Amino acid sequence: MIAPKDETRIGVYVCHCGTNISAVIDVEALAEFARGLPQVALARDYKYMCSDPGQELIKQDIVDKKLNRIVVAACSPLLHEATFRRVAEDAGLNPFLVQMANIREQVAWVTDDPVDALAKAKAHVAAAVRRVSKHEPLERRSVDVTPRVLVVGGGIAGIQASLTLAEAGKEVILVEREPSIGGHMSMFDKTFPTLDCAACILTPKMTAVKDERNIRLLTYSEIESVEGAVGNYKVKVRRKARYISEEKCVGCMACIDQCVFTKPKFPNEYDQGLGLRKPVYMPFPQAVPPVPIIDPETCLQLSKGKCKQNCVEACGERGAVLLDQEDTIEEFEVGAIIVATGFKAFDPSVMPYYGYGRLPNVYTSLEVERLVNAAGPTGGKLVLRDGSVPKRVVIVHCVGSRDKNYHTYCSRVCCMYSLKLAHLVKEKTDAEIYNCYIDMRTSGKGFEEFYNRVQDEGVHFIRGKVGDISLVPPENGEQSNRMTIQVDDTLLGKVRNFDVDMVILAVGLEPQPDTDDVRRMFGMSCSTEGFFLEKHPKLAPVNTANDGVFLAGVCQGVKDIPDTVAQADAAAAKALALIDRGTFELEPNTAVIDEDNCSGCRICNNLCPYDAIEYDEEKEVSRVIPELCKGCGTCVAACPAGVITGVHFTNDQIFAEIEGMLFDAMPDLLAV
Ligand SMILES: Cc1cc2nc3c(=O)[nH]c(=O)nc-3n(C[C@H](O)[C@H](O)[C@H](O)COP(=O)(O)OP(=O)(O)OC[C@H]3O[C@@H](n4cnc5c(N)ncnc54)[C@H](O)[C@@H]3O)c2cc1C
Repeated sequence: MIAPKDETRIGVYVCHCGTNISAVIDVEALAEFARGLPQVALARDYKYMCSDPGQELIKQDIVDKKLNRIVVAACSPLLHEATFRRVAEDAGLNPFLVQMANIREQVAWVTDDPVDALAKAKAHVAAAVRRVSKHEPLERRSVDVTPRVLVVGGGIAGIQASLTLAEAGKEVILVEREPSIGGHMSMFDKTFPTLDCAACILTPKMTAVKDERNIRLLTYSEIESVEGAVGNYKVKVRRKARYISEEKCVGCMACIDQCVFTKPKFPNEYDQGLGLRKPVYMPFPQAVPPVPIIDPETCLQLSKGKCKQNCVEACGERGAVLLDQEDTIEEFEVGAIIVATGFKAFDPSVMPYYGYGRLPNVYTSLEVERLVNAAGPTGGKLVLRDGSVPKRVVIVHCVGSRDKNYHTYCSRVCCMYSLKLAHLVKEKTDAEIYNCYIDMRTSGKGFEEFYNRVQDEGVHFIRGKVGDISLVPPENGEQSNRMTIQVDDTLLGKVRNFDVDMVILAVGLEPQPDTDDVRRMFGMSCSTEGFFLEKHPKLAPVNTANDGVFLAGVCQGVKDIPDTVAQADAAAAKALALIDRGTFELEPNTAVIDEDNCSGCRICNNLCPYDAIEYDEEKEVSRVIPELCKGCGTCVAACPAGVITGVHFTNDQIFAEIEGMLFDAMPDLLAV
């Protein structure tokens, strides 16, 4: 490294960014102005500073002209600060002796008048020049990375990410809170737009997870706590008592057959309550692991302590039924985490005008997914609660989505799964089907073609919101379950009423109810819709603000299965890149607490958005955990004693920036 010499020699580089900057700012005049600033040894303008020749230019100057500080006046540092730090480093200069002046987003793109724009750009450059003269060389520290990944959530996203990592030879701990992996996809009969059999494409992957030696599958388990930081997390997992040993059970189902409840009696959660199960049950035929579970709420022995325990006897010497089993906690060390906790379907019972939960033949789309499924409660027959086959069916789109009372966002998959259900219901019943939609959104590969196909099959489409669903008045004193739909047909410009036997509510997708707890546990943020927030929507769509935590699937935002699978592979690749390298470089620009002068008031502890400040009970002082600190400066600003310093954001550096703007560029600025 070239140590900064006594004599400060600053190089200033003004980027044209094609015409993004140069169309508004006189870049030559700006470079000329920079040449006159204190300690500036050289200033140039160039078409694309970030291009290879642009970077070479800087490198060459650092060596030839003995520059020891660099200012690049270009775009946002979010885009290219890393590029120019690398350029400096390649030329032997400490990368933290570089400062960017954002004259594109903060000047050229927001200022119309070229005179004003030049004056503002001069202020930015003058500020950067004074600031960089106060920069100190900083060293990055690296930490070792544990070569193991935790995947949370065993839907298609978690399954895909786990398999990709395992294929690359990495150890994976896959934690799923339900008794089986599979998530929502395992509930579907067919998937749009190709009408692939969901089980046929999902179950091989589920079985592969079970058989893969690199994957440790923990179902019916939840994350208890997460400690540590990127590269080295310590995770505690609660393995809830299943009352049947996964190791000993061979899936013979004798315990289910011999249960004292000779017939299924309790609502099967997996079938959305439309089918029944016994207290000991398999969630669904293709469940992985293929091991039954005992529900402590409905099992007579576990809830009342009174049962003949036929299940224990039926299992015999194998001894897999363990009615005295308790929750256990297991601990794991992992280097990276993929969160793939999926979504919850919107509950339409909060919309009384749709009659869900009140009118027997109003169903959610998820319920209908189970009804049309061969492995579902009716064996795939599309029948109403009284066993009759519907003759007229309406599918109500956008239930809970695009509605300012519930979720304003579009749930993206509902138009397509409504078309799928229209096709399947028609195929099974030959019913007359109406889709009431706000807008049809079919913008995916093969989606429009599928829309055309369903139209050709004779499915009707009404553009308008359904206002009310009510029972048809009794005829001859008899009340039937038929319903009248009131819809505001915006194409015909009139309100229409028609009768149907079945209503399918195309419910939207929303964040899981425990999203906030999961967010805190993994040090993430949430978007305004409540889904986990990616680091950057375009450039870092699977990263989070926590360097070792990645996102996959609908927990990051609504998407269909193809997009989920693609994102899961992207998250796996990111996790792989982190753990494969073996080490992770920590940015040195964190906060530092002067422990000798810390009063231990702990104000900073609670304010830190990254939980990066710990309290030393013995010394009664606070301390920054550098692996977690992102250098956001919240604690620096909040410390009443002023004993926290933001490294690379010292008072000296910030005052220098202000002085540059005031003293070196004020005459021009005052003219603006
Ligand atoms: C009615 C309906 C029909 C659809 N049909 C189609 C279709 O035909 N084609 C298509 O492409 N898309 C379809 N979709 C969309 C599809 O369901 C999603 O794209 C897909 O399920 C997303 O997968 P995921 O793994 O992100 O989430 P999920 O399937 O929700 O899986 C998440 C998993 O994480 C587990 N989990 C949650 N929280 C935790 C926690 N804290 N700890 C441990 N585990 C946890 C859950 O139990 C679950 O197993 C449909 C959606 C709906 C609602």
